[in-house]
Amino acid sequence: MACSGSGIMSAAEIAAAAPYPLPPAGTSPMQLARERMEATGQWHPRQSMGRRWTIGCVALEITQRCNLDCSLCYLSDHSEAVKDIPLEAVFERIDMIRAHYGPDTDVQVTGGDPTLRRRDELVAIVRRIAERGMRPSLFTNGIKATRDLLAELCEAGLVDVAFHVDMTQERPGYADEVALNAVRADYIGRARGLPLSVFFNTTVFDGNFHEIPEVVRFFVGHADVVRLASFQLQADTGRGTLRRRQQPIDIGTVSAQIRTGAGAEINFDTPIAGHAECNRYAMTLVANGRVHDLYGEGRPLATILEATAGIQFDRKHKGRAVAALARGFARRPVAALALLPWAARRLWGMRQDLVAARGRAHKLSFFLHNFMDAGALDCGRIGACVFMVATGDGPVSMCLHNAKRDAFILKPVPLQDGGFWDPLTGAAREAPGEAAAPVLTRKNARGRRRLEIDHRRAASQGAMP
Ligand code: SF4
Repeated sequence: MACSGSGIMSAAEIAAAAPYPLPPAGTSPMQLARERMEATGQWHPRQSMGRRWTIGCVALEITQRCNLDCSLCYLSDHSEAVKDIPLEAVFERIDMIRAHYGPDTDVQVTGGDPTLRRRDELVAIVRRIAERGMRPSLFTNGIKATRDLLAELCEAGLVDVAFHVDMTQERPGYADEVALNAVRADYIGRARGLPLSVFFNTTVFDGNFHEIPEVVRFFVGHADVVRLASFQLQADTGRGTLRRRQQPIDIGTVSAQIRTGAGAEINFDTPIAGHAECNRYAMTLVANGRVHDLYGEGRPLATILEATAGIQFDRKHKGRAVAALARGFARRPVAALALLPWAARRLWGMRQDLVAARGRAHKLSFFLHNFMDAGALDCGRIGACVFMVATGDGPVSMCLHNAKRDAFILKPVPLQDGGFWDPLTGAAREAPGEAAAPVLTRKNARGRRRLEIDHRRAASQGAMP
């Protein structure tokens, strides 16, 4: 257990918290997930961890480098100084993820920006994840994610692409969040027609909170391609320069902004993965340009979850997903019958838009992810965490990982030939030795440290920046 008990973790507790060890052979990952939810008080009829999922997702960081410098970046001061971890170590982490959580696990191929990795290696990584029966997703800022690359990755087994676009990235030439819709439209064009689920990640921060409804309208208008709009709430972690939220940005206020943009009552108290203060999810159907909440009132949620537990939906092919749902209901006819009145009410509510759209409706989900500040990690939430990072020592909570990232990324990596790979030189050596302290220069520093370097330089030249 990465954290037991409750309350805010002390610096000593954070330093001592270790990744999850491999469970004993024969242990059910689903049962382990359930036990973790029970131990943290998060087991209830709407909990999907331990029913549908063994874990929400696992981030596989294949590079620490990035071609942007976001003002809320979770990477560390030293990330840019770290070489790309050897392919054999990435493959070992993929196998480790499979051993912990089993097939059908969602693996986020991320970084840094994963497209900075050598193209043949990126393709090999995606293929390896798919060959292990898991679902690879590419998490990228999109700058280098060309149509050609996405098509090749699809052939290797890529299931989703998640484009991160927002004003924290400070892309030159875009005055506000709405202006960035031009970038989003370009990325949608690159992915359109490929067998991929398209997601967008948007960081919600003090500078764009007021524009969230307009961004949601954009996603609704492109629901023929966009499957998931995910919103990450500002957190003070990593090398980002923006620090803590200055206005009330929380699950309540952001979900209200999403409702405003969608022009619909959307229920975010739907099946929850993990801790209710960490994640919220809502599924809608868009027909005739109008948004309809799929779950609606809360009562049938537990029945839906029960009826669909164990069903894996194919996110690349709508027809196969519907067929999987039909098979699942055929195995649970009582639950399916219990859901009929609910389904009839939802269809009746959509009837005019379905007629106008000739029966066509697109699924558009919304997700809220409420990351924690590195200095205020809630032990209960860490214990119930469903968003893991794959480290050489096992999976660890993303919030915990970001609070002590250097302890992981600067650690020498064991190689199959008995040697150790040095993260700062990229060379192999015979003994692990101590993790070296990287030298920060303006070239390899980002975020807060680059500001400090610029500040010192300006002061030494007699002019403040
Ligand atoms: S990464 Fe942090 S915010 Fe997300 S589920 Fe884990 S503990 Fe919660």
